[in-house]
Amino acid sequence: MNKEKIRELIAQLLVELGEDPHREGLRDTPRRVADLYEEVFRGYASDSELDVVFTEQSDFVMQKDIPFYSICEHHLLPFFGKVHIAYQPNGKVIGISKLSRLVEKYARRLQLQERMTDQIANELQGTGVGGAIVVVEGEHLCLRMRGVKSNGVTVTSEARGTFDDPLVKTRLFDLMLDVKNRTSAISHNASDFSPVQLIEQ
Ligand SMILES: [Zn+2]
Repeated sequence: MNKEKIRELIAQLLVELGEDPHREGLRDTPRRVADLYEEVFRGYASDSELDVVFTEQSDFVMQKDIPFYSICEHHLLPFFGKVHIAYQPNGKVIGISKLSRLVEKYARRLQLQERMTDQIANELQGTGVGGAIVVVEGEHLCLRMRGVKSNGVTVTSEARGTFDDPLVKTRLFDLMLDVKNRTSAISHNASDFSPVQLIEQ
């Protein structure tokens, strides 16, 4: 990431917005934005690998409420919320901190919630676990700020392997989601943003 170039571009943007980039409040803004971008987009530089740390037998391991912050690639505004992950260990358990880092790897870049869900599920399944399911609950500022009449949460899910089964998924959703989201998880819609929805692919 060329932070010097980003500083220049942000200063230009301020001018195009009709602002004076030299006034006191804005003087350091290009630098601040460049510093911020380095942090919120550091997922591009992440080479975190999901190495297996423990050996154990259990039906599934679930990690709920992993927080994430990402930037919507359509509007460059934040979307954020929680990721719930469950997987079938296949004799191997992945450290909880590794799961958080996996989420960061894909959240800290320009994203779509659907793609982020898919990428996390793919990498998890790629470690050789028996099955994996990833559910993401996200709030999108681009929807709220544009006056879309929705203060709701967008729910997306991806299942792999042995977890790609309607019965298993329903049980895991029950454990992962609030009642209101669970109810609407019965029907899904991949294209519009109803207040609460589940997107399954
Ligand atoms: Zn957006």
